[in-house]
Amino acid sequence: MKIGCHISVAKGLEKAAMQAVHLGAESFQVFTKNPRGLKPKKIDHKDANKGVEIMTKHGITLVCHTPYITNLSTPKEDLQEVTIRSIAEDLHIAEAYGAVGAVVHCGKHVGEGEEYGTKRMVETLDLILEQYNGPVKLLLENTAGQGTELGLTIRALVAIREATKYPEKIGYCFDTCHAFAAGQWDEESFDKLLEDMEQTGYLDHLVCIHFNDSKVPYGSRKDRHEKIGKGEIGSDALAKFLRSEKLQHLPVVLETPVDDEQEYAEEMVYIRDLKG
Ligand SMILES: [Zn+2]
Ligand SMILES: [Zn+2]
Repeated sequence: MKIGCHISVAKGLEKAAMQAVHLGAESFQVFTKNPRGLKPKKIDHKDANKGVEIMTKHGITLVCHTPYITNLSTPKEDLQEVTIRSIAEDLHIAEAYGAVGAVVHCGKHVGEGEEYGTKRMVETLDLILEQYNGPVKLLLENTAGQGTELGLTIRALVAIREATKYPEKIGYCFDTCHAFAAGQWDEESFDKLLEDMEQTGYLDHLVCIHFNDSKVPYGSRKDRHEKIGKGEIGSDALAKFLRSEKLQHLPVVLETPVDDEQEYAEEMVYIRDLKG
């Protein structure tokens, strides 16, 4: 497992990669652009190349995250168009950054119903992926099921990937906090979750783990991250997750709340201890 954390890329990829080395991260995640906006971004290739050089030298794996405010299932034509343009651009940014994947949140059906939302999400994914033929995978992240969010279960995510025209361009990112809040796993049901991942073929396309504890209880369908061992999932369940033989090849990225990225250095030490 490559244990790492989310790092700010506000000062460029080179600085972010240096920070990853400084914190002792073996993997890290950055936003492709401002997470609350969709403003197009010019890629600074010189900076990107320097960042990639540092990552290569230290064997660090990078994952990118696309902005939150896109909606793959939106019924609105104009928002769909913006979503397509923005995520296609994110894939190119992620490629320049040398990332293995770009994480995207599943759509919200905003009252149109699950069936419509899923169909629309597949349609939007096709329109994005027909524009991109590079090595970066678009990673569907499971959701907590807040509001009208789609994509809570392993089976739903697999069905979406398989319904697109380009499944080979799609992978998965599994968020431990979202899955717990969506009632998909806890300490007792962890083996069942792994079994589901294997049987559905999900595990073959799993590219990244978001490793977070949850502030809110099992099945509460709210997305509230907590520091590892301080939340409702708890250190026993999270240790079990870390020790699973089937997940050892994956980057495991913390998105837990911190005031300062320096706190991640300690949290990563804690996780490595927990893993044993
Ligand atoms: Zn996440
Ligand atoms: Zn979250």
